Amino acid sequence: MSTSAPIDRPGRPPSADPGNRAPGVGVVTHEEAMDLALAEAAAAVEHGDVPVGAVALHDGRVIASRHNERERRSDPTAHAELLALADAASALGTWRLSEVTLVVTLEPCPMCAGGLVAARVGQLVFGAADLKAGACGSLYNLCADPRLNHEVPITAGVRAAEASGQLKAFFEARRRSAD
Ligand SMILES: [Zn+2]
Repeated sequence: MSTSAPIDRPGRPPSADPGNRAPGVGVVTHEEAMDLALAEAAAAVEHGDVPVGAVALHDGRVIASRHNERERRSDPTAHAELLALADAASALGTWRLSEVTLVVTLEPCPMCAGGLVAARVGQLVFGAADLKAGACGSLYNLCADPRLNHEVPITAGVRAAEASGQLKAFFEARRRSAD
């Protein structure tokens, strides 16, 4: 969706247009949102970024769709999840995203899990677990820590094979080109 868009594009994709607001119109399932997130992840590879994609849903409609831009922007915080949360907040006009479901291809890292908690996100759906850096169940679970002021319900493993396959292919290609 954002492959050829400029970096500072507005955060409101076509599906958030008022004309698409009739009840039931534009509503996507978590599986369909994951398909979009996987397509976003594939677009990250075009600029040398690790393929991770994130889609934000509000009332079941897509309000943000982003991919990892860490290399593209030379920004260590430009993970797909944080970019999608920022777009979602712009689209809704509030930092408090308790009505938002974030659908992401890979288990969020500590930074992004912290962002989910800070934004009071309503629900997290992710694909592949990240055994090396995941902070939503693998290394930590910042989304379910009663010491923090918000907990985020998690659905894990949606299209996990596709997401991990994308990542594996990316790192294999990078290793081959480094040889
Ligand atoms: Zn992250």
